[in-house]
Amino acid sequence: MSDCIFCRIVRGEIPASTVYEDEEILAFNDINPLRPVHVLVIPKKHITSLSTAGVDDTLVLGRILAKANEIACSQGSADGFRVIINTGRVGQQEVPHLHAHIVGGTDPVGPMLKRI
Ligand code: AMP
Ligand code: ZN
Repeated sequence: MSDCIFCRIVRGEIPASTVYEDEEILAFNDINPLRPVHVLVIPKKHITSLSTAGVDDTLVLGRILAKANEIACSQGSADGFRVIINTGRVGQQEVPHLHAHIVGGTDPVGPMLKRI
């Protein structure tokens, strides 16, 4: 999607603080971090949200989760983290390109993020 902000990051048109990249996914620091470790992991291919993802996206969705621990550890969250995928209007998703928030640090996440 030409005007999607995260597609533009994938294409290098907007700078991002990349922490991990392979052929399928890109991980970069959130521009407005809510915790000491706050990384967004996205598929390089545009998928709007979990509402529009399908079985064809199984591999890339699995890759995002399978790489989460490695990414979290590399950023200083070796003792656990939370993975949050806000989806659609009810999920209050702001950027319409699927992304997993990896949030953590050295201390347990606080009540603002421990919503469930
Ligand atoms: P969500 O509410 O789940 O859609 O979260 C969108 C996230 O994207 C927010 O935490 C924003 O801070 C983050 N964000 C928006 N633009 C950028 C950007 N250019 N680089 C890094 N993070 C961004
Ligand atoms: Zn996109």
